[in-house]
Amino acid sequence: MSNELLEDLIGKRRYLHENPELAFEEFNTTAHIKKWLEAHNITILPLDLETGVVAEIKGAFAGPTIAIRSDIDALPIKEETQVPFKSKTDGKMHACGHDFHTVSILGAAILLNDQKDKLHGSVRFIFQAAEEIAQGAKIAVEKGALEGVSSIFGMHNKPDLPVGTIGVKSGGLMASVDKFKIKFNGVGGHAGIPHNAIDPIVIASQYVTSVQTIIARRLNLFDNAVISITSIHGGNTWNVIPDSVELEGTVRTFQPDARAAIPDLMKNLAESIAQGNGGSVEFIWDDYLPVVNNDANLEEIVRKTAADAGYNVVDGVPSAGGEDFAFYQTYIPGFFVWMGVNGPQEWHHPEYDLNEEAIKVASEYFAQLAVNVLSK
Ligand SMILES: [Zn+2]
Ligand SMILES: [Zn+2]
Repeated sequence: MSNELLEDLIGKRRYLHENPELAFEEFNTTAHIKKWLEAHNITILPLDLETGVVAEIKGAFAGPTIAIRSDIDALPIKEETQVPFKSKTDGKMHACGHDFHTVSILGAAILLNDQKDKLHGSVRFIFQAAEEIAQGAKIAVEKGALEGVSSIFGMHNKPDLPVGTIGVKSGGLMASVDKFKIKFNGVGGHAGIPHNAIDPIVIASQYVTSVQTIIARRLNLFDNAVISITSIHGGNTWNVIPDSVELEGTVRTFQPDARAAIPDLMKNLAESIAQGNGGSVEFIWDDYLPVVNNDANLEEIVRKTAADAGYNVVDGVPSAGGEDFAFYQTYIPGFFVWMGVNGPQEWHHPEYDLNEEAIKVASEYFAQLAVNVLSK
């Protein structure tokens, strides 16, 4: 990449950073991405998206279509960095580095556009809205972003890795995120006459401790999962047994099989504890985000592309955060990597920042990866 292009991309990143937009409000960001793509005569596909852009570069030779994805949205966080291009909108900030992802994938598109006369196939660029609320990928898929696409690639910046270091791991890289609500129904009554009541506090208490045995006794040792009950509400005074208790919480795991098994295990346990105590239960499960589940068949080309370019390839350490890139991987094989950006703080921190030299690494990496995947 020329210094001139890098300077240009850094300028664009700073513009996006100064003008952050939250999920599904990325209208100005979308307009700018379109303008920047059009300036390089890169085709924008006519997908019916409110925000976000899908573009494509068709190679000179026939071949498959692969996709590279960036997210584009910011967060409702008040920026507390001292950078000269600090957010101009109070309470909104690119604190997850999606501004970096956007210009890096734009850079990859610009680099690939210059090589399209030797490309065997097409490369689609998905600039996706609303990652932070885990909705954008789902909508992009519904609107056809993956039509005809055989595999998809993406990244998240990683502040704790140096620039030029790429973290790679097959299988689960980012956790599934699911939510649940459980309402235990008993029969309210006098605290001194419990045999005339069905005490939902006793039922809920048994459940809170017993549910952890799902991790310890029902899941395979090699399946990592966490069940956290984060809210419990029931009763409002000292001498009355309430008629119900409500629990809420979340489940995280890295294995799709474990994720599939846990809801029934939790529901069955809730029913048996409730029934064993004479009560009943309402169990509501909310499938929120699947596992970022990297396809092992793509690992070699992902690693080799980075190593051949002289980058430091390390084993990707999984994160229990969620990422809606996972939705694409439920349809087609995909691979998501960590991109070192050497930042002072973790994602979503008000002092989050990154080293912009990483834009060059990420743009060149994804352009080369596309060439390599298509020439396989
Ligand atoms: Zn984020
Ligand atoms: Zn993010």
